[in-house]
Amino acid sequence: MISPAYADLGAKLRRAHLLSTVADLLSWDEQVNLPPASAEQRARQMALLAELQHAAASDARIGELLATLEATKTTLGADELIVVRQARRDYDRMARLPSEFVSEKATLSSQAYHAWAQARAQNDFPGYAPFIEKHLGLAKREAAYLGFGDSPYDCFIDQMDPGLTAATVGRLFDELKQGLVPLEKKILAAPRLSPGLLRAFPVEGQQAFLREVTERLGFDYQRGRIDVSLHPFCSGTGADTRMTTRFKEDEPLDSLFSAIHETGHGLYEQGLPLDEAGTALGMHAGMGIHESQSRLWENQVARGRAFWRYFEPRFRARFPQQTAAISSEVLYRAVNAVEPTPIRVDADEVTYNLHIILRFELEKKLFAGDLAVRDLPAAWRESSRELLGLEPATDREGVLQDVHWSGGAFGYFPSYCLGNMIAAQFWYAALAALPGLEDDFARGEFSRLLGWLRTRVHRQGRRYEPLALVREVTGEDLSPRYLLRYLQERYGSLYLASSAS
Ligand SMILES: [Zn+2]
Repeated sequence: MISPAYADLGAKLRRAHLLSTVADLLSWDEQVNLPPASAEQRARQMALLAELQHAAASDARIGELLATLEATKTTLGADELIVVRQARRDYDRMARLPSEFVSEKATLSSQAYHAWAQARAQNDFPGYAPFIEKHLGLAKREAAYLGFGDSPYDCFIDQMDPGLTAATVGRLFDELKQGLVPLEKKILAAPRLSPGLLRAFPVEGQQAFLREVTERLGFDYQRGRIDVSLHPFCSGTGADTRMTTRFKEDEPLDSLFSAIHETGHGLYEQGLPLDEAGTALGMHAGMGIHESQSRLWENQVARGRAFWRYFEPRFRARFPQQTAAISSEVLYRAVNAVEPTPIRVDADEVTYNLHIILRFELEKKLFAGDLAVRDLPAAWRESSRELLGLEPATDREGVLQDVHWSGGAFGYFPSYCLGNMIAAQFWYAALAALPGLEDDFARGEFSRLLGWLRTRVHRQGRRYEPLALVREVTGEDLSPRYLLRYLQERYGSLYLASSAS
């Protein structure tokens, strides 16, 4: 029997959640549809929504209900306890932030997004730097409000991936770096495919093919859609999942893999228990886990031979002229090309994580006060030389390339690399649990993998913190060694065949 206080709490949480879905939609529209001169009104709309959302989530009545429920804990079931615990965490975070602060941050984020887009187009870091500085100032204030005054960066790591700290992330990344840098060097010294083999793929054909692929993987287009944006993303919830990609005629694999990546995010959202939306049971477990879902589909599944056994004939059928002179092996190598690039979102799987380690180390220094915002471009170039062996020719290809800081989203980048580690660890657990899994893929059958993820990951919502969920799913602590093993197996066999035994 559900107590009246618990039912009231549920209603309050659902209301706050609904408001956040409206804000998501406005933000999606801003990046997909907004006319160029309409940004100011959108900034005001977003600020108003953020205020309403904050008021709903910090409603004093929620505090009273939580106090009542916490006092009668023994009458609550296990799931209800999880909901109450998470609601307490969220409520405290919200109630500690003054509403002026929340609307100030939302206004700044919207202005900074447009400043970033313009600065990037014009390669003008000094024009954007004041926005990062303001965001950094707000972030430090936010951390202080939330009780992280002594370790502000941890505040944002913990916001993205509950329970994690910069120190834990740093340890995992250092271990990964030790294995990854030598592997990267060996691969980059091996003969590789020259880029630019795939030319003149009409956008309509690309659109149709990626629709076929993403549907086959299980994305439900009755509850979602895909559009075009500058920077691919997935937002919304399981009830209405909005993905984006972007198209270039000479890079059909870019739009395809962006779409598969976002489909992984979308499948997770669509797999969360819908009737629990707004409570911990209907919430994703953290950004690292979210990213693991996109990476697993994008990389372990869709860059594998079995996936292409099924999709290659379909790809060729849609683009017969463009693919006529390309052998299967060359196509497969194009799918798994390794080529250092200054741009994170264009990076291959092997070098991608080094892009993240670069950002993590810079953010750590920014928060510690060891690096000034104006010195970011130079620090970026230096770090890029060190880790990736190349220097961006312009800030546009360096410090200006990512949207994240314009939204004040610090501590977000590490979750990409954590996601890669988690994806690889989940992948080996899935292979062990589901014999013949890759034979399924070769027949265009992906439902066994999706079902396994649905049960073990998606339907768990936020029952577990990320590191605990990894232990639940795989029986082991999170470790970079599965990612290293996977990269060695896939890329070692392609590029280091003579030395691999
Ligand atoms: Zn992602």
